[in-house]
Amino acid sequence: NALSGTMRDWLSHRVATTPDQRALIHAPTGDSMTFRELDTLVSETAGQLAALGLRPGDHLGVVLEPAIEYVRLVHAASRLGVTLVPCSERLTPSELGRNLELADVTALVCGESTESTAVEATTDIPVVSVDEPRWEGVINLSSIAPKAITPVQWDLSDTMLLLFTSGTTGTPKAVRLTMGNVLANAVASSFRLGLSQGDRWLVTLSLHHMGGIGPILRSPLYGSTIVLREGFDAGGAADDIGKYDVTGVSLVPTMLKRMLDSRGTLSDSLRVVLLGGAPASEELIERCRNYSVPVYPTYGMTETASQIATARPREAFSSVGTVGRPLFFTGLDIVDDDGTPVEPGSAGEIVVSGLTVSPGYYSNREATADAFTDAGLRTGDIGYRDDDGLLYVLNRTDDRIVTGGENVDPGEVVEVLRQYPAIEDAVVLGIPDPEWGERVSALVVLSDPDLRLDRSSLDAFCRERLAGFKIPRLVEPADELPRTVSGTIDREAVREQLEAALPVTEAEP
Ligand code: ATP
Ligand code: MG
Repeated sequence: NALSGTMRDWLSHRVATTPDQRALIHAPTGDSMTFRELDTLVSETAGQLAALGLRPGDHLGVVLEPAIEYVRLVHAASRLGVTLVPCSERLTPSELGRNLELADVTALVCGESTESTAVEATTDIPVVSVDEPRWEGVINLSSIAPKAITPVQWDLSDTMLLLFTSGTTGTPKAVRLTMGNVLANAVASSFRLGLSQGDRWLVTLSLHHMGGIGPILRSPLYGSTIVLREGFDAGGAADDIGKYDVTGVSLVPTMLKRMLDSRGTLSDSLRVVLLGGAPASEELIERCRNYSVPVYPTYGMTETASQIATARPREAFSSVGTVGRPLFFTGLDIVDDDGTPVEPGSAGEIVVSGLTVSPGYYSNREATADAFTDAGLRTGDIGYRDDDGLLYVLNRTDDRIVTGGENVDPGEVVEVLRQYPAIEDAVVLGIPDPEWGERVSALVVLSDPDLRLDRSSLDAFCRERLAGFKIPRLVEPADELPRTVSGTIDREAVREQLEAALPVTEAEP
């Protein structure tokens, strides 16, 4: 299930067709450039990387805050046939070192704010900085005289990116994404979201995940403009949408919520708000409806170059909670524990196939064999499709709570807790319990931190809406929900906090 054939980097193709279209607006300064201007910068960067010794098939690590230099590196790697390995700027040196080793990185590019982490993380590969280096041995990229290069012909099965998963269920895995995977995803995404002349996509997600780097890769393919922010702040991101007539943006639910909290609604220049990475609450979808925010709730993962299914606003508003139908090239099955497809309305594991599915994890044969089966990619997510074929994602296979022999869907309990006035947000999971197997437990963020949670009133509220065995036995307030670097809930940290909150008197006799 792979595309075959060859092509050059997409910026080369774009410059050959519409060079004078606008490629990029740098949000902090308002500076902009055309594809031709970007191309000149990219050739320079590519020539410098070639002079450094990078060859087709090498792995270029990048640990850098979002900046124009990052965009140059993305396209320069592509021009040279080099696999890009974007790493989070928030990793510790040892985490970064582990990732560099896991991904066999050939050279690492950093910037001023990441240089010390980069230096500490590496021993045997060259470290290059896009800024003036402060450490001895670090090479200043702009001091390298560029070598003349010709754009490399990619095979569509060549690995364009190695992207790390968020590590929600363990240590992050390096996912191989081929040029064919990224291309298929870009095409199918544009079928679902639509494509307009003059689209401007705001980039405010971190660039080490598909949600952030995807729009940068797709921009020359579509001929659309990216509006590049340096990181995220709710008010600033909302304001940039109005200021630059932004038509599209990818966000995770917490970001959208904060933007609406701070600005009420978003500019009506917006055509698409692609909302994914984690479930969006009913309340957030309702707010989008009330404020005419064109929300496209989406379900995706690193292993499929992002989107698997995406709902259009009409579907999102009439079937609240859905992530819509699979994208055009994507096959989607819901299967039981034996791998047999289940009836509409029944929940099971989501299995995905098609052109966007990665060939596997980099140098991790065991995890690849577990997830990438002949029937498709086992996502580890539980969901169901309704009679109309709309998909709903419930939770992960290993999130299911079994208490006293009954199955509890944590998502259902979260929805009820979120409706309780004093609770703003919640995570629910099962904590091992000697009597019940697992005990339904919740970490909650209160809407007013000074408030004390009235347990008996909360229990009464839950009893009206949930069967007895689903009512959380342990409810622990927290200032905020622990999250991974990509914004998904860090369930291991939640588990630790909940286990630490267990009353010690309940030890077994
Ligand atoms: P790891 O694979 O290392 O445990 P991860 O799965 O969190 O980490 P990502 O690839 O960044 O890493 O995230 C994909 C996952 O995010 C999906 O498998 C799914 O569990 C969750 N997810 C994404 N979109 C949604 C959504 N709309 N609703 C519910 N869950 C979602
Ligand atoms: Mg995963």
